[in-house]
Amino acid sequence: MALDFTFTEEQEFFRQMVRDAVNRLIMPRVKELDEKEEFPWDLWKEFAALGYLGLRHEEKYGGMATDTISQMIFYEELARGSCGFAMAAIMQILMGTYFIALFGSENIKQRILVPAIKGEKIGTICFTEDQSGSDLGGTRTLATKVDGGWRINGRKQWITNGPIADFTTVMATVDPKLGLKGLNFYLVEKKTADRDGFTPGQRLHKLGSRCSVTGELVFDNVFIPDENFLGEQIGKGVQYAGDILNEVRIMTAMNALAIAKGAMEDARGYAKNRIAFGNPISKYQLIREKFAKYWAWYEVSWNYTYKCAWMIQNKITCTNECMLAKYHATEMCMYAVEEAMRIYGGNAFCTEYPPQRYWRDAKFLLYGGGTHEVLCDYLGRIFCKD
Ligand SMILES: Cc1cc2nc3c(=O)[nH]c(=O)nc-3n(C[C@H](O)[C@H](O)[C@H](O)COP(=O)(O)OP(=O)(O)OC[C@H]3O[C@@H](n4cnc5c(N)ncnc54)[C@H](O)[C@@H]3O)c2cc1C
Repeated sequence: MALDFTFTEEQEFFRQMVRDAVNRLIMPRVKELDEKEEFPWDLWKEFAALGYLGLRHEEKYGGMATDTISQMIFYEELARGSCGFAMAAIMQILMGTYFIALFGSENIKQRILVPAIKGEKIGTICFTEDQSGSDLGGTRTLATKVDGGWRINGRKQWITNGPIADFTTVMATVDPKLGLKGLNFYLVEKKTADRDGFTPGQRLHKLGSRCSVTGELVFDNVFIPDENFLGEQIGKGVQYAGDILNEVRIMTAMNALAIAKGAMEDARGYAKNRIAFGNPISKYQLIREKFAKYWAWYEVSWNYTYKCAWMIQNKITCTNECMLAKYHATEMCMYAVEEAMRIYGGNAFCTEYPPQRYWRDAKFLLYGGGTHEVLCDYLGRIFCKD
């Protein structure tokens, strides 16, 4: 197969469209979005009207059915504007609707997926619990089979879009003793006067990505009908989760790339104007080294992450590659935001200047799609073949 590192004309055009929307709608409000810590409903409606919430879904449900590379272009451009808004939107586009699109009945797709694409319903996905994050085998949220459906009992935490969610895909176990083999996905809607469902619990206040709202969801003996079981077979939840994780990991890498680039480009502007010892600090070798290191690692990361997108698009197995991409991009990003903080000197500590926002936003990227330690442990084991 020939090597080809070019984007198609359509992909370049798509990038420009998204970039224009981000420049127009998000860039003037970056500071406000961070400070207010509120979900920006107006932006949500604008992005839904542009069709972006249906980026990866079939056209017959109102989606755009774009390729994986275009989806990554979207994530990269959106995160350049606001990591928080990107988190909320990507939750809807990718994780929140993934299993509904894959396994949902036609009725569920019409009732949930179609309004989700229009931005009229908000979704999320629930894995994490008080005592299980990286270790999904520790899931305690219980799904009990009853006549005509299931009863769900448990609490999930750290749920992006949780406080405003209309529906969620929840991972629950049929028996905690089965560990990973007992896990499945279920669709649960929010409780209303005429329907059983989850209720939002405590909202969490975050260090960064603050305009996405995050909190607990409570499942108190919630009844759901049989059609809300999302899968073909009981006990396959972890296998299904593995399929989406490749995309989650490179999506996270895209967020990291966008934050690193924003932080270092702002820092470059600052360094060229800040005078110390008679020169702009950008003239000093120790400052230039920070830019050089970032640039080298950024370029490698950017190319490798798009290679992973291309592999997913071409259905080439790439579990290890996507882990490597996420690991490399997030470590590169941690370096970039830390060095940007140093370049700004004492001003970095002031909320009037941007590096502290990049630094705070970046920290979240270390957790989703596998923490640094969990990825390293897995990759080290694969490398050593033990
Ligand atoms: C902003 C934000 C949004 C989120 N949104 C969602 C969401 O929408 N839905 C959802 O389900 N979850 C969400 N999460 C949760 C996220 O997925 C978890 O934080 C992540 O899975 C890690 O789990 P944990 O925080 O429980 O950490 P733990 O798994 O408890 O890990 C704690 C520490 O132990 C280390 N560790 C764990 N296992 C090992 C090991 N085997 N070897 C070495 N070290 C290890 C970890 O690396 C980490 O340093 C969100 C988190 C954040 C911060």
